[in-house]
Amino acid sequence: MKCDNCGKHYRRKITKTQAVWMCAGYLTLGKEYCPSKQIPETVLENQVQAVTSDITTIKEIIVADKNTLRFVMKDGQTISRQRKDRSRSESWTPEMREAARQSAIRRRKSDG
Ligand SMILES: [Zn+2]
Repeated sequence: MKCDNCGKHYRRKITKTQAVWMCAGYLTLGKEYCPSKQIPETVLENQVQAVTSDITTIKEIIVADKNTLRFVMKDGQTISRQRKDRSRSESWTPEMREAARQSAIRRRKSDG
Protein backbone atom coordinates (compact mmCIF):
# COMPACT_ATOMS: atom_id res chain seq x y z
CA MET A 1 0.00 0.00 0.00
CA LYS A 2 1.67 3.15 -1.25
CA CYS A 3 1.16 6.90 -0.81
CA ASP A 4 0.73 8.85 -4.03
CA ASN A 5 1.86 12.06 -2.35
CA CYS A 6 5.35 11.04 -1.35
CA GLY A 7 5.77 7.45 -2.59
CA LYS A 8 6.28 5.98 0.87
CA HIS A 9 4.41 2.97 2.09
CA TYR A 10 1.46 3.00 4.41
CA ARG A 11 1.80 1.60 7.91
CA ARG A 12 -0.79 0.10 10.19
CA LYS A 13 -1.35 1.93 13.45
CA ILE A 14 -3.59 1.05 16.35
CA THR A 15 -5.36 4.00 17.90
CA LYS A 16 -7.55 3.96 21.00
CA THR A 17 -10.66 3.35 18.96
CA GLN A 18 -9.60 1.60 15.77
CA ALA A 19 -6.88 0.36 13.47
CA VAL A 20 -5.85 2.90 10.86
CA TRP A 21 -3.35 3.05 8.00
CA MET A 22 -1.08 6.07 7.75
CA CYS A 23 1.62 7.17 5.34
CA ALA A 24 5.13 6.53 6.65
CA GLY A 25 6.20 9.95 5.37
CA TYR A 26 3.42 11.58 7.34
CA LEU A 27 4.20 9.50 10.42
CA THR A 28 7.93 10.12 10.52
CA LEU A 29 8.32 13.53 8.87
CA GLY A 30 5.02 15.21 9.60
CA LYS A 31 2.17 16.65 7.61
CA GLU A 32 4.39 19.35 6.11
CA TYR A 33 6.22 16.55 4.34
CA CYS A 34 3.14 14.63 3.31
CA PRO A 35 -0.43 15.94 3.72
CA SER A 36 -1.98 12.51 3.23
CA LYS A 37 -4.80 11.37 5.49
CA GLN A 38 -5.12 8.30 7.62
CA ILE A 39 -7.50 5.61 6.42
CA PRO A 40 -9.48 3.51 8.89
CA GLU A 41 -8.86 -0.17 8.38
CA THR A 42 -12.60 -0.84 8.14
CA VAL A 43 -12.82 1.56 5.19
CA LEU A 44 -9.86 -0.10 3.55
CA GLU A 45 -11.37 -3.55 4.02
CA ASN A 46 -14.67 -2.40 2.53
CA GLN A 47 -12.91 -0.97 -0.51
CA VAL A 48 -10.85 -4.13 -0.99
CA GLN A 49 -13.99 -6.26 -0.78
CA ALA A 50 -15.70 -4.03 -3.34
CA VAL A 51 -12.85 -4.65 -5.77
CA THR A 52 -12.13 -8.34 -5.24
CA SER A 53 -13.03 -11.25 -3.02
CA ASP A 54 -9.49 -12.55 -3.35
CA ILE A 55 -6.98 -10.14 -1.81
CA THR A 56 -4.08 -12.04 -3.35
CA THR A 57 -5.07 -10.74 -6.80
CA ILE A 58 -4.11 -7.22 -5.69
CA LYS A 59 -0.54 -6.30 -6.46
CA GLU A 60 -0.54 -2.87 -4.89
CA ILE A 61 -2.86 -0.26 -3.42
CA ILE A 62 -2.04 3.37 -4.10
CA VAL A 63 -3.62 6.09 -2.01
CA ALA A 64 -4.28 8.88 -4.49
CA ASP A 65 -5.98 11.13 -1.96
CA LYS A 66 -8.01 10.65 1.17
CA ASN A 67 -11.07 9.52 -0.74
CA THR A 68 -9.49 7.72 -3.65
CA LEU A 69 -7.74 4.37 -3.68
CA ARG A 70 -6.14 2.95 -6.78
CA PHE A 71 -5.89 -0.82 -6.92
CA VAL A 72 -3.20 -2.26 -9.16
CA MET A 73 -4.14 -5.84 -9.92
CA LYS A 74 -1.72 -8.64 -10.71
CA ASP A 75 -3.32 -9.05 -14.14
CA GLY A 76 -2.26 -5.48 -14.96
CA GLN A 77 -5.57 -3.65 -14.64
CA THR A 78 -5.99 -0.64 -12.41
CA ILE A 79 -9.21 0.04 -10.54
CA SER A 80 -9.96 3.38 -8.92
CA ARG A 81 -12.32 3.50 -5.99
CA GLN A 82 -13.73 6.62 -4.43
CA ARG A 83 -15.54 6.80 -1.20
CA LYS A 84 -17.91 9.43 0.04
CA ASP A 85 -16.66 11.20 3.11
CA ARG A 86 -19.37 10.75 5.65
CA SER A 87 -17.35 11.56 8.74
CA ARG A 88 -19.27 14.79 9.27
CA SER A 89 -22.57 13.68 10.75
CA GLU A 90 -24.30 16.94 9.85
CA SER A 91 -24.00 15.98 6.18
CA TRP A 92 -26.32 13.04 6.77
CA THR A 93 -29.89 13.47 5.66
CA PRO A 94 -32.69 11.45 7.35
CA GLU A 95 -33.00 9.47 4.13
CA MET A 96 -29.31 8.55 4.24
CA ARG A 97 -29.59 7.50 7.86
CA GLU A 98 -32.57 5.32 7.07
CA ALA A 99 -30.80 3.76 4.08
CA ALA A 100 -27.71 3.03 6.19
CA ARG A 101 -29.87 1.52 8.90
CA GLN A 102 -31.68 -0.67 6.40
CA SER A 103 -28.47 -1.91 4.80
CA ALA A 104 -26.99 -2.60 8.24
CA ILE A 105 -30.03 -4.72 9.05
CA ARG A 106 -29.77 -6.53 5.72
CA ARG A 107 -26.08 -7.19 6.30
CA ARG A 108 -26.78 -8.59 9.75
CA LYS A 109 -29.46 -10.87 8.33
CA SER A 110 -27.29 -12.16 5.51
CA ASP A 111 -24.53 -12.89 8.01
CA GLY A 112 -27.06 -15.29 9.41
ZN1 LIG B 1 2.87 10.20 1.92
